[in-house]
Amino acid sequence: MKSRRNFLKITALSTAAVISNPIIASENKGIENKPNSNKITKPIVVSTWNHGIAANEASWKILSKGGTALDAVEAGVRVTESDASNMSVGLGGLPDRDGIVTLDACIMDENNKCGAVAFLQDIENPISVARKVMEDTPHVMLAGEGARQFAFEKGFKKTNLLTENAKKVWEEWKKKSKYQPIINSENHDTIGQLALDENGNLSGACTTSGMAYKIHGRVGDSPIIGAGLFVDNEVGAACATGMGEAVIRIAGSAIVVELMRNGKTPHEACKEAVDRVVKKHADLTNLQVGFLALNKNGEVGGYSVYAGFNYAVHTRSQNELIDAKYDKKQ
Ligand code: ASP
Repeated sequence: MKSRRNFLKITALSTAAVISNPIIASENKGIENKPNSNKITKPIVVSTWNHGIAANEASWKILSKGGTALDAVEAGVRVTESDASNMSVGLGGLPDRDGIVTLDACIMDENNKCGAVAFLQDIENPISVARKVMEDTPHVMLAGEGARQFAFEKGFKKTNLLTENAKKVWEEWKKKSKYQPIINSENHDTIGQLALDENGNLSGACTTSGMAYKIHGRVGDSPIIGAGLFVDNEVGAACATGMGEAVIRIAGSAIVVELMRNGKTPHEACKEAVDRVVKKHADLTNLQVGFLALNKNGEVGGYSVYAGFNYAVHTRSQNELIDAKYDKKQ
């Protein structure tokens, strides 16, 4: 995980606003963003991993002008999807074991409206297709060729998502791997983003190229409402990253939101969901999962099975990366 983390860090930290902002707190172990007194911290946007810094900056342009959380999260994660140097989301994402890039994404708003696409090929911004599914169809999820055709009908253009770099990495993998997909902590880094806007409304987005070198057709947690993402405007929002199979098994993001409904802070809720992942899996080898949560008061928390998960937080006074607390060192 370390090499990819570093690579992503360099990518994310190249944004001017971060360089000019002195409050990057990478050694800041999972500090919760607690509002002073009873004040609600809004607007606020939070994202998984280092690439969340650039995504949050795009979202902030919308939120700081009174825009909606829904518009903010769509615009935010589109930045990551279109970044060809990022090898875990959208364009430039690592392919499946057959060398085909397949994308998963979902979006959810303050009215429990949601849209998702799974196993989508040839489209650079699956999150915007997911939003179209939400707004222009009676359905929640479209998959595979149907999702692709729907995207073309909506005017999305065909894009070759396999960059030369990703192709080279995949070809190297093929030499050593004997075509055996191995799920491990090296090959995933979904962006999940959650926002609370000036009007106090929550939305979230989640988008990924999924587990690298997966079996063709595999879909993870990221496009599944309740697993990779969940929003309840009365309570809060949560998203997940890491081994999607483990997140699906415990209905991860829905659980985090329910735990907040029952009085847990975002940090406590994420920790309890991680505890559940740990309890339900006899073999935790390489089983990294991280949760990120934001409640109605603008409080934030994150927690992961193993060290290494971080998240980006942007408010009026804060623009920083925070290392999540974790269950195990390695
Ligand atoms: N959760 C994603 C999946 O299983 C992987 C990731 O977090 O990057 O597809």
